[in-house]
Amino acid sequence: MANAIDLSGNAAVVTGGARGIGYACAARLPRSGAIVTLWDVDPTTLWAAAERLKAMGSVHAQVADVSDAASVEAARAETVRTMGKVDILINNAGITGPNKKTWEYSPGEWRGVIEIDLIGAYLCARALIPGMIALGYGRIVNIASIAGKEGNPNASAYSAAKAGLIGLTKSLGKELATSGVLVNCVTPAAAQTEIFQQMTEEHVQYMLSKIPMNRFNMVEEIAALVAWLASAECSFSTGAVFDLSGGRATY
Ligand code: NAD
Repeated sequence: MANAIDLSGNAAVVTGGARGIGYACAARLPRSGAIVTLWDVDPTTLWAAAERLKAMGSVHAQVADVSDAASVEAARAETVRTMGKVDILINNAGITGPNKKTWEYSPGEWRGVIEIDLIGAYLCARALIPGMIALGYGRIVNIASIAGKEGNPNASAYSAAKAGLIGLTKSLGKELATSGVLVNCVTPAAAQTEIFQQMTEEHVQYMLSKIPMNRFNMVEEIAALVAWLASAECSFSTGAVFDLSGGRATY
């Protein structure tokens, strides 16, 4: 049974909300009273996800590629028109890219991960922060990864992007510390979502072997922490990194 978190009056964007961790985060928000818009690059899965979530509350869907500044700006404008404001951003959209040694990646493969996982989060923050500053209130939760703290072998683009996202969280947290807009990130270990299809089985087993609890993250466990970080009750944490790794990172 999930704790009740009060998000009534809030309006949230969840990027990559069509499936996986983003969908689990999005599912908690309308149940807590927030209006939600899912942003995703995959229209078919996006519409289906939004239809399912409408049973829980006010949920909208917006096709957006977070790595494309023009697409993000168009999504921002349409979302603000629909919801009236955005005061919660869950920066979740991401890919892992292939598993190989750093020097075996093509520059395009390596850059592709950075473009979505790091620059995408920056573009969404850039688009939505001015509105939050004007409101004097906002919560941004970035979905980083244990890979960004530890550096996983055969996943250097992903690890670098997620380390960058942790750095972005810390910088934004300080820049916005007196604005009412708080920015935090979470660092999950591996959760069994469709993202596993991008990885080798060997890499999946490597990640599992590193988790002292000897099991994968459940997406609901990630959503529980994200929902609290997105709430007004989270009031004295910003620029912080919240661990979700089953004991892998005890820092
Ligand atoms: P997933 O593949 O199940 O879902 C990712 C979603 O992001 C998809 O719906 C996809 O269409 C969307 N997306 C991809 N590129 C996009 C783009 N350019 N613009 C908009 N949407 C885009 O992945 P997931 O496991 O739910 O992962 C979600 C986030 O959590 C990612 O940032 C991932 O790095 C992070 N994470 C995942 C794990 C894990 O083991 N699953 C662990 C730690 C962190």
